[in-house]
Amino acid sequence: MNTYTKIFKLTRDNFSEVIGECAEIIKKGGTVAIPTETVYGLAANALDPIAVNRIFHAKGRPADNPLIVHVASIEQLEQLVSEVPPKALSLIEAFWPGPLTLILKRTEIVPDITTGGLDTVAVRMPADIVAQELISLSGKHLAAPSANISGRPSPTTASHVLHDLEGKIDAVIDAGNTRIGVESTVIDMSREKPAILRPGYISAAKIEEIIGEVDINYNEHDTGALGVVRSPGMKYTHYSPAATVLLLEGPHDLVSNKVREMYADFTCRGARVGLLVTSNDLFSLTNDVVYLGRKDEPEEVARNLFLGLRSLDERGVNIIIADGSFTHDGVGAAVMNRLRKASEMIIKL
Ligand code: AMP
Ligand code: MG
Repeated sequence: MNTYTKIFKLTRDNFSEVIGECAEIIKKGGTVAIPTETVYGLAANALDPIAVNRIFHAKGRPADNPLIVHVASIEQLEQLVSEVPPKALSLIEAFWPGPLTLILKRTEIVPDITTGGLDTVAVRMPADIVAQELISLSGKHLAAPSANISGRPSPTTASHVLHDLEGKIDAVIDAGNTRIGVESTVIDMSREKPAILRPGYISAAKIEEIIGEVDINYNEHDTGALGVVRSPGMKYTHYSPAATVLLLEGPHDLVSNKVREMYADFTCRGARVGLLVTSNDLFSLTNDVVYLGRKDEPEEVARNLFLGLRSLDERGVNIIIADGSFTHDGVGAAVMNRLRKASEMIIKL
């Protein structure tokens, strides 16, 4: 598939015009990469199997990995799902529009390709104005997974999108960097006991404040007691740059010392090493270094994670040593989940 990808750079003056043109592309069954508050998404009409197939094809996404459907109103939600249980409604009232995706029982209008054949559908109402306006103006429900090649770090800028998908999608709307930087929290509300399937910007603690106890149902790798272990990144490819990522977890000082030691060791052996760090005293080691953010500011770290992985890749490093000494509170848990999945090896200190 080779398509000319239109690039719309949003300015103060062209908002309506750009949304208008992109709504036409969506109505014709095309694909448009759009900013959301989390990451850039690749949007198409969720109820048109041919349009949805274009998303899978462009991303190289496995057919059994279902898509999140984005809505701009409760009426649109009601068309997709057979019921909204009371706890789901409470979450909607608390967090929509925003980065929380609910899994609910679907109606028959949702095609199999969108849900990977499941009898449930994932739905969210994005807070970003571009996404909202495109949904409203096109009048379509938008399936929109992250706008990257499957397995690569999610895109937080339009240039990340173009790097992966130029020539494979109809258009991209460039509205600068996304505000949050990691994906939505996914919670299964289709069963008796709600279960978080993917950590995201909305933490489990915030969710439990609203609806009480929830199950945590995602595979965080158990790093065991041996110190060095293989991470799930060996099994799945997820959020992975081309370079090999080595993740160091533990107290900040120990991690900093280990970064220095490993940097020296790998460099000696001829590797080009990039660093993803939370302390600027490691900046003197190399130019191939990206600051993730202050270790106690998980929102900062979230904004820089995918950006950092991609930026080090572009510089051509072979190995990325990632400093995992930032807090796991709030969105920190989601960032750590992404980083673990991106890593070939986790070293616990
Ligand atoms: P993405 O849009 O690529 O960030 O990922 C969407 C996430 O939601 C993936 O982890 C999917 O497996 C998950 N998901 C989407 N629909 C469902 C569903 N009906 N049941 C369970 N998980 C889902
Ligand atoms: Mg994705």
